[in-house]
Amino acid sequence: RLKEWAKLKDAPSLSLNGEQFTIGANIGTPDDVKSVIDNGGEAVGLMRSEFLYMDSNELPTEDEQFEAYKKVVSGMNGKQVVIRTMDIGGDKHLPYLPLPEEMNPFLGYRAIRISLDRQEIFRTQLRALIRASEFGKLAIMFPMIATVDEFKQAKKIFEEEKSKLIEQMVPVGANIEVGMMMEIPAAAMIADKLAKYVDFFSIGTNDLIQYSFAADRGNERVSYLYQPYNPSLLRLIKNTIKYAHKEGKWVGMCGEMAGDQVAVPILMGMGLDEFSMSATSILQTRSLMRKLDTKKLSELANSALNAETNDDVIKLVKEFTQHNK
Ligand code: PEP
Ligand code: MG
Repeated sequence: RLKEWAKLKDAPSLSLNGEQFTIGANIGTPDDVKSVIDNGGEAVGLMRSEFLYMDSNELPTEDEQFEAYKKVVSGMNGKQVVIRTMDIGGDKHLPYLPLPEEMNPFLGYRAIRISLDRQEIFRTQLRALIRASEFGKLAIMFPMIATVDEFKQAKKIFEEEKSKLIEQMVPVGANIEVGMMMEIPAAAMIADKLAKYVDFFSIGTNDLIQYSFAADRGNERVSYLYQPYNPSLLRLIKNTIKYAHKEGKWVGMCGEMAGDQVAVPILMGMGLDEFSMSATSILQTRSLMRKLDTKKLSELANSALNAETNDDVIKLVKEFTQHNK
């Protein structure tokens, strides 16, 4: 099977009936780009920028960040690269950036909440990103957006830094898309409102599941509540895709679920546009996609949305796959 998959390295990510999808990769550092290309990745759907902050003894400078982003963007040769702004807090801490002790760090001061509060850190990162946009196709996304106001504030700061750079005659890419992670249930419920302001959504299922089921993603005692196929979660995903498409915006997924072979048929049936996963899952997923007909998958997705439990949905997918071999 590895051999069969390898042949698909340069093949498009098409369904059996010719619908086009994009399969991208999640990366942590510029060195990961090679593996994305080697595995036939069509994009970087998520670059976690935290490594720049974690692998350092002080806040990374604008130039250090610029060099790292530029390496990724140019390494992808014009293919889209989505870089997420700093997602520190929760379980990720920086020795040189003391954060308050909190009872519930995952519900506390993290990600965009820190960026909007400590704007000097955020503005430095945005300038580095905007400068790197000149070298390829860069998109920026904000983590942990819960409300329309948060997105508008973050976008406004982005626009301010972009205008300043242009005023200073710094070269800037023509179309930098600006989107958000969809990983908080409250945000998914107002996808129709948010869709008016974003260029795209990227669904972060790791956190969306954690917050939907109120179950810490790292706590084994409650790990049975990690239920990616539960209709409740599928409905949040469906809502996100439906309203984004209504506004002509695209939707990706960069949580673990995007590379899950049981979830992929349902997600295709719901019309998800981009699947971003670990590079080593790309070819297997492309192979699966090419065997599936999206007309049948949309019926499968509807049945899944109307099922009762996570296990019921797994059964639906298994039966479907048996009948459509
Ligand atoms: C997610 O929450 O699904 C996600 C992709 O982000 P992270 O795993 O970095 O929180
Ligand atoms: Mg997340």
